Amino acid sequence: KKVSNVSDLTSRDRNSIWHHISPYNVKNPPMVVEEGKGSWITDAQGNRYLDGMSGLWCVNVGYGREELALAAYEQIKKLAYAPMTMSHEPAIELAEKVNEMLDDDYMIFYSNSGSDANEVAFKMARQYHRQNGEVDRHKFISRYRAYHGSSMGALSATGQSMRKYKYEPLIQGFLHVSPPDNYRKPDSITEEDYNLQRAEELENTIIWEQKETIAAVIMEPVITGGGVLIPHPIYVEKVQEICHRHGVLLIIDEVICGFGRTGKKFGHQHFGIKPDIVTMAKGLTSAYLPLSITAVRKDIYETFKNGDDTSHFRHVNTFGGNPAACALALKNIEIMEHENLYERSAESGDKLLQGLDDLKNHPFVGNLRGIGMIVGIELVEDKTTKEPASKERLAKIISDCKDNGLIIGKNGDTVAGYNNILTLSPPLSSSEEDVEFMIAVLQKVFSENQS
Ligand code: PMP
Repeated sequence: KKVSNVSDLTSRDRNSIWHHISPYNVKNPPMVVEEGKGSWITDAQGNRYLDGMSGLWCVNVGYGREELALAAYEQIKKLAYAPMTMSHEPAIELAEKVNEMLDDDYMIFYSNSGSDANEVAFKMARQYHRQNGEVDRHKFISRYRAYHGSSMGALSATGQSMRKYKYEPLIQGFLHVSPPDNYRKPDSITEEDYNLQRAEELENTIIWEQKETIAAVIMEPVITGGGVLIPHPIYVEKVQEICHRHGVLLIIDEVICGFGRTGKKFGHQHFGIKPDIVTMAKGLTSAYLPLSITAVRKDIYETFKNGDDTSHFRHVNTFGGNPAACALALKNIEIMEHENLYERSAESGDKLLQGLDDLKNHPFVGNLRGIGMIVGIELVEDKTTKEPASKERLAKIISDCKDNGLIIGKNGDTVAGYNNILTLSPPLSSSEEDVEFMIAVLQKVFSENQS
């Protein structure tokens, strides 16, 4: 361990940076991180941690990839910037590449963050219907528990009350329905029927709200930040069918699920659907630089092309499609392909789930679930009533994992009481030893926390 000016950095941090939630208490200052390599990060004191959350579910190819640094460096030297009114080769090549990875024909719109990408999708959806003469189609439906971003539109679509109530009124016309939560389904019905019921709730909402007023449904293929809710495939297929039948666009938020996180290129590819709009960010550049995409089906795009002012899509974004970010994204996708990270994500995720399987016998583990490199461990106070575990219980496990060199996450909604899901979402490039390390730490920590 090296001696460094950590306490100085911490106190300077505390005097100058407003971190995302609140001023940190004395006991728990933010970790000052210095380096990352592979799945591991090192703090300013020289402690190493396996980053079991890939940052915020985003560093898909792991840290410290020199090729990515070089791709950005070379591009900045050659051409650092071009506005949206111009084009450049990295943007064109990346658009072609992403289109090739999708199962339909799309046009690519660039911005900088997942929230941006969703805002673009909402504006496109409303304008699309208006220019088709369906001027009343302005409402959006999303699911409770889902997270879609922090800007006002994306926050309005978000279904986690804890993030919203202090900022109300939010934007009108955003409605929510319940997602399937298979762990908490009634015992009396099958998973399939339960998932069909959830889809029916969506259809009822469309009908009762008057279908001519609904612009789009937005959802993640798997709810990630809301607690790893993996639907039965029949649910996703049914949602697409309902949207088609009622003239409602289907926007799929792949901000977390995209780029291999679920074990396929895109999460929706598990379900064989063809979304109208797909939004992506995070894993697109493995978060080395900010970049996001709103991919819109070509036939929708065509309706914006009639040439007069009314069909212009009025949305400018200074940094969108930054050349260095595009060049880096291309290299990032190349790495994923070269190292078979889509397949490896599925395989390593299976190994993680298998290795953690006996946690199911632990008194406070209500449910263990996962898909690709996304694992959710739902903690409960009582396995029969499924009462969510206390905040303290989750905090203890998280802190003990950290003491053993593993960073894990916690997801859910504090207001609704379901903030009880531990998450593990390491880089897709994690080695076998990394996977074994995560299993060993979790086994140890759970066995030491039996009561
Ligand atoms: N959608 C989903 C599913 C997300 O998880 C996130 C970020 N966690 C966003 C959108 C927003 O992305 P950003 O933070 O880049 O705005």
